[in-house]
Amino acid sequence: MEMKAYIEEAEKDLLHTYNRYQIVLERGEDVYLYDLEGKKYLDFCAGIAVFALGYSNDNYKNALKSQIDKIIHTSNYYYNVPAIEAAKALLKASGMSRVFFTNSGAEAIEGAIKAARKYAFLKDGKTDHEIIAMEHSFHGRTMGALSVTGNPKYREAFEPMIGNIRFANMNDIDSVRANINEKTCAIILETVQGEGGIYPAEEGFLKEIRKICDEKDILLILDEIQCGMGRTGYMFAWQKYGVKPDIMTSAKGLTCGIPGGAFLLGEKAAENSLKAGDHGTTYGGNPLVAAATKTVLSEYERLDILGNVKTVGDYLYKKLDELASKYDIIKAHRGIGLMQGLEFDVPVADIIKDCMDNGLILINAGTNIIRFVPPLVIGEGHVDDMIKILSASIEKVK
Ligand SMILES: *Cc1c(COP(=O)(O)O)cnc(C)c1O
Repeated sequence: MEMKAYIEEAEKDLLHTYNRYQIVLERGEDVYLYDLEGKKYLDFCAGIAVFALGYSNDNYKNALKSQIDKIIHTSNYYYNVPAIEAAKALLKASGMSRVFFTNSGAEAIEGAIKAARKYAFLKDGKTDHEIIAMEHSFHGRTMGALSVTGNPKYREAFEPMIGNIRFANMNDIDSVRANINEKTCAIILETVQGEGGIYPAEEGFLKEIRKICDEKDILLILDEIQCGMGRTGYMFAWQKYGVKPDIMTSAKGLTCGIPGGAFLLGEKAAENSLKAGDHGTTYGGNPLVAAATKTVLSEYERLDILGNVKTVGDYLYKKLDELASKYDIIKAHRGIGLMQGLEFDVPVADIIKDCMDNGLILINAGTNIIRFVPPLVIGEGHVDDMIKILSASIEKVK
């Protein structure tokens, strides 16, 4: 079948929750994707900040293949070696105390919320605890994750939410303070907001939140699902600021394409929250996903992914700054490492479409922002190639 015919089939069969770009992707190589017609694309999306290692990492592929031959799934009623090794590596990389493996980012957020509520419940036996989340945040599409997601458009039709959620403004400590009361059990935020438009938390803001949480025994939950796993040049973005969360969520790059996620607890939350019977999952941390996680973490070390992100991230920053000063329709440039955004005066859909026609895959974050979240193995030459295609597309709309 031809690409167009496949797209027509898809439009008939799949629930229409996405306005998809009109290509069918078939395979990946290095940091390039190929569609069914063999057209090659430079990938600056990485499956939405997922495929950190690119598409040709043999150690990753071989680890999965050999795990498939051994066993794919057992159950959390038993132990398995890949999960034990993955947990050890993840705790070492994060400095957290305990981990629960999930199947996705949203599910990691659900677990984090449950752990925070349980922590508060064990303290005072009450069931009316509140969580403070941020405007412009994105934490996922399940009901709990949606409840702490800042965009009212995502929530409205699905009300009522889980309840007792208050929204404060990112980088506005007074708005956080104004929402705190004796019921507050947790403050949740992305260390760098992704979907909402690439807004990094400021160091002072994070440190002040940490202080408030310590004073009032409120748990700080940092969502590192997009900004974690090396994307900012730090394994987890909070490590740049030295502000350690009580609970942290991870997914996306954590497993590099095999569906998975995790929530991790610091000692205080680990010792005083979820106990046997409180939480579970059929698939979470199964041998196949754990083999992926463990190999991703060892490949990060072997390939010095953090070093590469720092170097190439700085280069990307310089190049996007040049672009921003050259074109008046670019209003702002934000981000850290290989998680950056350009905010335009105009909707970016046409620019992204034109780039795709010219062999470059980019994604938006909101209507007016282009988000740059490439595989973490790209080099400066790939940045140059991307800038060349993007500039040409901007020239057409400016
Ligand atoms: C993608 C994302 C999620 C949700 O992850 P899923 O795996 O899609 O459920 C949550 N938080 C952040 C910051 C994300 O970027």
